Amino acid sequence: MDNLSRALPAEFKNLSDLAHNLWWSWSPEGRSVFSYFDQTLWRLTHHDPMKQLQGIDPSRLEMLRQDMVFIRQYQAAMTTFHEYMGAKDHWFSTTYPQLRGGQVAYFSAEFGLHRSVPLYSGGLGILAGDHLKEASDLGVPLVAVGFMYNQAYFRQVIDAEGWQEAVYDSVDQMSMPIDLARTPSGDVVKVQIPIGDRKVTCVVWFVKVGRVSLYLLDTDTPENSSEDRHLTARLYGGDHHTRLCQELLLGIGGVRALRAVGCEPQVWHANEGHPAFLLVERIREGIQQGLSLNEAVEQVRNSTVFTTHTPVPAGHDIFSGALIREHCHWWWEELGLSQNDFMALGCHPEFGADQFHMTALAIRHAGFINGVSVEHEQVSRKMFQVMWPDRQVEEVPIQSVTNGVHVPTWIAKEMDVLFQKYLGSDWRERCDDPELWKRIEEVPDEELWEARQFLKRKMLIFVRQRARIGWMDGTMEPTQVLASGALFEPHSLTLGFARRFATYKRATLLFSDLDRFKKILLNPWTPVQIIFAGKAHPADQFGRELIHHIYQFAKDHNLGGHIAFVEDYDMHVAKFLVQGVDVWLNNPRPPLEASGTSGQKAALNGVPNLSVLDGWWKEGYDGSNGWAVPLLDELVDDGRQDVWDCAHLYSLLENEVIPLYYKRGMDGIPHEWCAIVKNAIRTGAPRFSARRMLKEYVERAYAPLLSHAVSSTEEKLA
Ligand SMILES: *Cc1c(COP(=O)(O)O)cnc(C)c1O
Repeated sequence: MDNLSRALPAEFKNLSDLAHNLWWSWSPEGRSVFSYFDQTLWRLTHHDPMKQLQGIDPSRLEMLRQDMVFIRQYQAAMTTFHEYMGAKDHWFSTTYPQLRGGQVAYFSAEFGLHRSVPLYSGGLGILAGDHLKEASDLGVPLVAVGFMYNQAYFRQVIDAEGWQEAVYDSVDQMSMPIDLARTPSGDVVKVQIPIGDRKVTCVVWFVKVGRVSLYLLDTDTPENSSEDRHLTARLYGGDHHTRLCQELLLGIGGVRALRAVGCEPQVWHANEGHPAFLLVERIREGIQQGLSLNEAVEQVRNSTVFTTHTPVPAGHDIFSGALIREHCHWWWEELGLSQNDFMALGCHPEFGADQFHMTALAIRHAGFINGVSVEHEQVSRKMFQVMWPDRQVEEVPIQSVTNGVHVPTWIAKEMDVLFQKYLGSDWRERCDDPELWKRIEEVPDEELWEARQFLKRKMLIFVRQRARIGWMDGTMEPTQVLASGALFEPHSLTLGFARRFATYKRATLLFSDLDRFKKILLNPWTPVQIIFAGKAHPADQFGRELIHHIYQFAKDHNLGGHIAFVEDYDMHVAKFLVQGVDVWLNNPRPPLEASGTSGQKAALNGVPNLSVLDGWWKEGYDGSNGWAVPLLDELVDDGRQDVWDCAHLYSLLENEVIPLYYKRGMDGIPHEWCAIVKNAIRTGAPRFSARRMLKEYVERAYAPLLSHAVSSTEEKLA
């Protein structure tokens, strides 16, 4: 029995189990148990059941023991939880009965599951988290591997001048819902990974994500030198050297960890290039089992899925020959390869023979390769065509599975209530069915508008609460209170822009013509306000400059508090923003946004997008469900692209978005606006759900590769 359950009264012991499975975070029953448990602690811990159970007051526990409302909620949640965990008739097992017993391993450098498990930085991680949750819901037999970062990603603090400071907090492992992984015989798992001339040891944790287990590698163990103990401390923290070591740990250590806990996956999915060394490790295993190099490569290809996530060159890890020689020489010896043959595994013709390109490694050895939107498929084919010099662009073997978001995670409670009422209580189960969403037309505008306005107020209360705390504890100066959005007006049209501050996302684009923009913002009859949020990588000086720039506008008295910057964008903040604003704004430089998912979260909640036609929006926009900046049909330099896109954004705002928002019926409700909101939900929710995405991965990648594994095992047996 762990410490947590020891502290709980006998009748509530199972709360510890519930807190130790992230299922609670996307189930209404699980969430309501913990939010009722102690409302104030729930808020103060930012919805963290582990911290809440550890901090609960004995007198509150005594009260709960007499509280029939709580006891009923608790029992209902435990029943639902046990039914969920024990279910046998889920989508995967009924659709693919012949693949029962198969297993898919999913590797990613980050996982965004919940704010209380801080193992992610942004979009890539949240996509991976949504992938696991949906796999669990659909019953896809999946295990996952990532890192236990003891300092996580940084917390963003903006100083009075508007400069981002990166604060690293140590994670308290005792208050994380993790446990040490064990071998089938019950021993604690430790795996060793050769790096250069030494061996690095990883302990392995696991966290339960519904029915899916996620294993986490951690080098902070006494067997390692103090330098090695820090290898897994931070996400994307170090230089090339640290990065290479981390990727060796993930690829090699991940395979070894799964073997040690007794998993035998037949399909291996690398999410982005970071874990791609897992392919080399499996080639090594094949050779050790007596296969020739070619046979081992063929075996790996027939069982590997690779997803590439960005057309931005800096998003692809490349290691110099010198670094590879320093860290991997042992490997080519074990593989029976020459150094040149080894380098050739990760060769990208554009970078020459002495560079090791992680995406090229994965692309060369995967049986199913995909980008994350239809547009991104095209862009990736062009990018990697050089690897197939004798093929046309159309023949480059890269496909696409467009990203989607995990609906139960991202849906607002108030929208859930509406959907239950008008789509049916089983709407979550059917959330990828476009037919179901036609019923959205039946929602009365009054109810829809009331829910939307409520969610906006909820977001503004959250923003104001933060400002009040900052003001009271003396960490915020008066101008920072202004910049935080504390003066925001609940009745004004509110745009949201939240994402990583990478250059191509052009966060300051709307400020290009300040006079025109100011007129838009400050029109007394139709005011507009914008809420910004997002982190810049601490080493990205240009990204920090962008934040600084926006912060100056947020502090500017002349803009009347119509621009806000909300600190420390994470999943918790993201929920308030994607659910609470009126319009979701996105203006990346096309075609650099591979997909984008925050706009999908917004659309699901009835927040239409105003966006450049790039990534998912190029597929999602249909003329009725939001607004799009048309694409230029000629190639121009970046400056002209900015001018074109910005002018279109202004005129869309002036001529369409703003007039429509403020055009009210006799009842005070903007009915034409509500029609767009409904179209955004009807078209966006089913198609850009993780449910649709995961079913596609299964149908197009996992199931064919699993069947192949099953039939080749049968051949061997025959
Ligand atoms: C959804 C999400 C992202 C990804 O959003 P993009 O639209 O891909 O930029 C990043 N960070 C957080 C916290 C999110 O919730």
